[in-house]
Amino acid sequence: MADVAAELEALRKQIRYHDQRYYTDAEPEISDLEYDKLMNRLKELEAEHPDLITSDSPTQRVGGEPLGEFQTVEHRLPMLSIDNTYSEEEVRDWDARLHRREPDAEIDYVVELKIDGVAVAIIYEKGELTQALTRGDGRFGDDITSNVRTIRDVPLRLHGENLPDYLEVRGEVYMNNQELAELNERLKAAGQRTLKNARNATAGTLKLLDPKLCAQRPLRFFAHSPAVVEGLEIRDHLHFLELMQQFGLRPTPFVERSATIDDAMDRCNRWIKNLHDLDFEIDGLVIKVNSFPLREKLGYRSKSPRWVIAYKFEKYEAATKLEGIRIQIGKNGTLTPVADLKPVLLAGTTVSRSSLHNADELERKDIRIGDTVIVEKAGKIIPHIVRVEKHERTGDEQLFEFPKDCPACQTEVVRDPEGVYIRCVNPDCPAQLKERLKFFAHRTAMDIDGLGEKLIIQLVDQGLVTRIGDLYRLKEEDLLPLERLGKKSVQNLLKAVEGSKNRDLAKVLCALSIRHVGKHVSEVLATAYPNMEALQQADQETLENLEEIGPIIAKSVYQFLQSEAGKKTIDDLQSIGLTMQSEQFTSGKSAEEEEGEKPLAGKTFVVTGTLSKYTRDEIQDLLKKQGAKVSSSISSRTSYLVAGEKAGSKLTKAEKLGVPVLTEDEADEMLKGETVTESE
Ligand SMILES: [Zn+2]
Repeated sequence: MADVAAELEALRKQIRYHDQRYYTDAEPEISDLEYDKLMNRLKELEAEHPDLITSDSPTQRVGGEPLGEFQTVEHRLPMLSIDNTYSEEEVRDWDARLHRREPDAEIDYVVELKIDGVAVAIIYEKGELTQALTRGDGRFGDDITSNVRTIRDVPLRLHGENLPDYLEVRGEVYMNNQELAELNERLKAAGQRTLKNARNATAGTLKLLDPKLCAQRPLRFFAHSPAVVEGLEIRDHLHFLELMQQFGLRPTPFVERSATIDDAMDRCNRWIKNLHDLDFEIDGLVIKVNSFPLREKLGYRSKSPRWVIAYKFEKYEAATKLEGIRIQIGKNGTLTPVADLKPVLLAGTTVSRSSLHNADELERKDIRIGDTVIVEKAGKIIPHIVRVEKHERTGDEQLFEFPKDCPACQTEVVRDPEGVYIRCVNPDCPAQLKERLKFFAHRTAMDIDGLGEKLIIQLVDQGLVTRIGDLYRLKEEDLLPLERLGKKSVQNLLKAVEGSKNRDLAKVLCALSIRHVGKHVSEVLATAYPNMEALQQADQETLENLEEIGPIIAKSVYQFLQSEAGKKTIDDLQSIGLTMQSEQFTSGKSAEEEEGEKPLAGKTFVVTGTLSKYTRDEIQDLLKKQGAKVSSSISSRTSYLVAGEKAGSKLTKAEKLGVPVLTEDEADEMLKGETVTESE
């Protein structure tokens, strides 16, 4: 008997370990077959010795009879809601409030994905799962223990030693998009109703009174906060997540620490742009104070904790047909698949295409031509495809074969060694040239008026421009025969092209489509080098040591400047008469000395509202040229707010803080040095 008990315990331990490797760590160590063998042996032994079955045995996930109804249970600690906002500015106000409350504290934040699922509290006593509750009205929730026990991410017994006496973990039960698509396929095949989206599917599943049905649904769980905890010290949020991992619970993924609210907002906005990377739905980001002692100090308001805020975004989705897939070629040769959609109305705009980002995504989401797809638009971001309605397939859908050759120049494509992108590496590829020319002519780069997309396409297609330098060799008689181009506009265009020859080094660098080099990096480089020749002589290490230039950017710049194509382009531009001199070069003086000589040195500006004479970018450039700092948020350290039409909360805030407000005209006068206004 003792032997049997020992074998049972050993089997359970092994199975729990492999559950964790499989569900929590996503790194299974044994095959499904081997796992089933362990499980079958356990079932066999338990059948022979029913008196030795424990409630936390892995065989007991799906137990019990269907319930008549759920019991209502009071939460030991109410499940409060958290404050939320759709405005970045309000998040910053929240940060400012915390700093005012705790002026001496160093506040660091964690940014967490806000999973769009169902909030659940799970209670472990001495390591054993004893109860799981829904939020309910916040004070009382439904006891859904038998359903939560069926979720494979949720251990029935916590892993490891030194388990807390009592641990209430809160988190989100959810469903993956791909698993929902497969579930819908099965439901459809069984003649049952399909589920609309992952959130509804999750909520509906947790309400099932029969745990056997619940067990057939692919529910998952992420832990995001502790509630009542006895016998366990937790320092901060990251420590909490680490403990969850050790206990065999899945912590919300991708949580990182941010030392400032700026960094936290950057992370939020990056996530919103990359929603298509996630296989589960989120409806916002949660920003929390990391330190638990500090959370305690900050405490609660009547309905919500002070130390947390949710930054949400509007989300809309619709089903439509994917009619075709096209390949778009970027300025650096990246081949991006783009879906042509049957036009569908989404949040007031008609959506007819959506980026599919890369070949991997196409494969991961198993997207085929002719599929019915769910398109989602979140915030102001371009719509993306969430999932395929596989149950709607008729069998006529076509797999898309990713081209092996560039569709524009037929050069064999290559996969990026470091990433998921597939590129055309032909430097003379006409499709890339068109994109590069668009970028070259753009207002933030060489700013060539009248050189728009349609004209660029004609110039390249007719062979008038085969490399960037050709722009400067265009003659009136080349252009006159082109469509929609009168004599007057031809002359204006030629004048604009000629006029761009004296653009500053920063603009030229920005215009050359060097990977990882945008407006800001170009400016940094132009501050360090007086002209293109000097930059060409810099070695990679020197570039790497420049402030704000990391190894990746340095390598990219160096490789471009030393490449055959890069040298050819620059030589060509030089021979045509581009000056490529830096206006921002600090001539060996330290940045501060240099700034000190400029009229607006030491002043910080914030620009808001709609301007009439300048764009925001333009006026910010002009301010920076005169030595001013430009910031995106108002504080008591702001010297001036430049407020255009429809200036909103920034204006209110400036007035509250006593920050001087300038109209666009007043700012313009200041730029011209016509008035001297003191900010003190
Ligand atoms: Zn090509």
